[in-house]
This record gives sequence, C-alpha cells and structure tokens, in this order.
Amino acid sequence: MIQQLKLQLPSPIQEIHDSLYSEKGIRVFVKRDDLIHPMITGNKWRKLKKYIEIFENSGKKGILSFGGAYSNHLMALASIGKELRIPTIGIIRGEELTPNSNLQLNWMQNAGMILKFISREEYRNKKIPSDIPLNEFLVIPEGGFSAFGVESIKALADEINKENFDYIIAAVGTGTTLIGLSKYLKNNILGILSLKNLKEIKANEWQMNQANSIQFFEEYSPRAYGKKEVELEKFCVEFSTKTKIPVERIYTGKMFYALNDLILKEYFPKGSRILAIHTGGIYPTEPSSEMANNF
Ligand SMILES: *Cc1c(COP(=O)(O)O)cnc(C)c1O
Repeated sequence: MIQQLKLQLPSPIQEIHDSLYSEKGIRVFVKRDDLIHPMITGNKWRKLKKYIEIFENSGKKGILSFGGAYSNHLMALASIGKELRIPTIGIIRGEELTPNSNLQLNWMQNAGMILKFISREEYRNKKIPSDIPLNEFLVIPEGGFSAFGVESIKALADEINKENFDYIIAAVGTGTTLIGLSKYLKNNILGILSLKNLKEIKANEWQMNQANSIQFFEEYSPRAYGKKEVELEKFCVEFSTKTKIPVERIYTGKMFYALNDLILKEYFPKGSRILAIHTGGIYPTEPSSEMANNF
C-alpha cells in the first residue's frame, strides 16, 4: 500500500556553503527530508509511516488524529488518506473554526479528511466527539508523539552515515524526531525549540528513555517580536536565496538561524561536520505566511 505513494527516499544529503562556515573551519550538510513528497513532507512522513503499516494490518476503517488549525501533521495525514483512499478524521483545536478558516483546513477538507472542531478545553482532554465510531478508527496522538512515532525515526537515522557527522541539528515541536534520532544515532544531537515547551519535551524525552541525551536550545523559541522577528524573516529570505533551499520561519528557518548563531558564537570546534535535518513543512504554494506554531 505504502509503495503507491510516490516518495523520494532516501532523501538526499547536500552540502551548503557560506563564507562564515569556511571562516570558522566547519562544514554544513542538509538532509533534504523536505523533498520526500510535496504534501507529505519531512518528519511528518517519517512519523506517520509506522502508523500506516499498523493501519494496514489493523482491519480498521480509517485513521483519526489531532492538530491545530495549521497542522503539518494533519496535512500529511489528509494527503496520505487521499492517495491511499483511507478515510481520515482530523480533530481540530478551536470550535470557532470552520473548514474555510484558512487554506490549510480548506486543503485538508478537499483532500477528503473529515474535520471536527472542538473547544480548547475538550482538545486538552483529547475528547473525541461521540458521533465517531471510535473502534473503527486507528487513533494517532497529536504530532505523532508516541513510542511508534519515535520508532519511525529509525528509517531516517538509517539513511545517515553517522561516521560522517560530528553534530546533528533539527527543529523541535513535540521532540519526537529528536528523541528518535538520539535513540538511533550516537552523534551529538542538538534541538532548536520552536515553542517554549522545554518542560514537556524533557518529560517526553524521559518517557521514551532514549539512550543518548539531547542538547536543547530554548533561547530561539519565544516568538521574538520587533527586531528579532524581522531579523529572522530577513535571514530566511537570504538563506533560501543563497542555498536554493526553501525554509519557513517556524521550524526550519529558525533552526538554520540558530545554527548560524551558534557558528558565529564558535559553539562548534574547528573541523566540525554538521548535519542539519530539513524537517519539511514546505508546500508547493505556501498556504499562508502566517503558519502558526503547531505540531
Ligand atoms: C512538526 C514539525 C517539526 C517538529 O517535529 P517534532 O517531531 O514534533 O519535534 C519540525 N519541523 C517541521 C517542518 C514540522 O512540520
């Protein structure tokens, strides 16, 4: 079933260049998981794969999951549902929303996903509306955070020759991707937080009890208004122009911004080889420049 999806796997690794890198004596490589599929991008595919395999053998009728109004996770799930003809349900945070509230929700609905809008309170309790025949649906937790999500990252880790890199850096939402990487690779793992959720991430990390510990950077996470926000925006445009690698400013743009900042501060010793994971989140037509923080 999965073979029916046209996925570019393994995703390529490419080196990127900047006078700053040569000045500091380091080399930077990018794992292009954004190229896996136009809609099922990056770590969203990585985290969902295991669930699709489970679904295939489950005898269930469809798949249900949770997300915010801009959820990359639900976009990926809706797309998989469309291509593999699997009925999908998205439980969306915010009862005031409709399928026409933004382009992402509209896109999910057009892909055939049934959208259910619930209040923030209900969402916190992961309350599933009573008209859904729950036993017929495989339920995926928000953002794919679970032991299965972590296990799914093994496929990504297997595509990385760990001898080649001293550091691996990636953006963090729920932390599933990073926890998976640190479980399956012994490199130094760096995580750039998108949200101010270090406590939750630490709890998740602890819950998964992975072997290797992760270095988290929280200082890039608060939505920096004013100068910082403008600086980040400017950095993203310059980065994409220079490298021809598209980024958005919530996850991957921020991660590359942080990487640049760490290089400037000489965090990495001379001679270091760094692999940055491009976790995706780039769509053929950017649905909205106001991609809210979401998993
Ligand atoms: C969801 C997402 C992340 C965060 O992944 P986690 O495994 O939840 O930490 C990072 N980058 C992009 C582009 C994402 O869509």
